[in-house]
Amino acid sequence: MKYPCSIIQDLLPLYVDEICSEESKKIVEDHLSQCSICKEIYDSMCNLKQEDIHDYHESQRIKSLKQVKKKILYKQILIGLSSIVLLFVLGFGIMTGLKNEIEIVNPDNCVSVSMINGSLTTRLQGSRIYEATIKRVSISSKDYLFFFVKNSQWDALTTNEEIYSELILCPEDKNADEIDEVYYFAGDYEGIESMNEIDLQKIIQNSKLLWKK
Ligand SMILES: [Zn+2]
Repeated sequence: MKYPCSIIQDLLPLYVDEICSEESKKIVEDHLSQCSICKEIYDSMCNLKQEDIHDYHESQRIKSLKQVKKKILYKQILIGLSSIVLLFVLGFGIMTGLKNEIEIVNPDNCVSVSMINGSLTTRLQGSRIYEATIKRVSISSKDYLFFFVKNSQWDALTTNEEIYSELILCPEDKNADEIDEVYYFAGDYEGIESMNEIDLQKIIQNSKLLWKK
């Protein structure tokens, strides 16, 4: 052997990394083909290098995986936040829409009239009264009271059977005791006070009797 093992072993790292000169490369290869000790060292260095490369790729893989996970997480957070905002806007829109949706209440089962402490009072079950129209008509020595109430869809949805609202239709000091009949009439109230008895009877036919003296 032309060169001692120690020189070859000094050169081996350069040879493995393929950064030595052509001349050194030839010297190392000549030596390796004859020396089993240096060959063994060379092999183990090659294995080590392979492991390094593997480790490097593995760390790159983990890094890119982490980045992908991060991106997915950001995306999920963004989607989550957008959903919350969307739900909030939608909820608010629906609430406002329902609050603005004012309807005439159907009197069946949920509207009643009674005399409470001398005042004629109506009670709306399961909702709040938003607005009421009331007209008192006196004809042929009989007193009639016509009325209807409105509520909002929001109130109808957010209240329940145990909740009710009350409204005085005719207070005691306005001679509530002289009223003979109270009707729920959800039609046209124009000129109802000065109607003749025939026209008034037509209205009564289209009304619901809720209270009678
Ligand atoms: Zn050697």
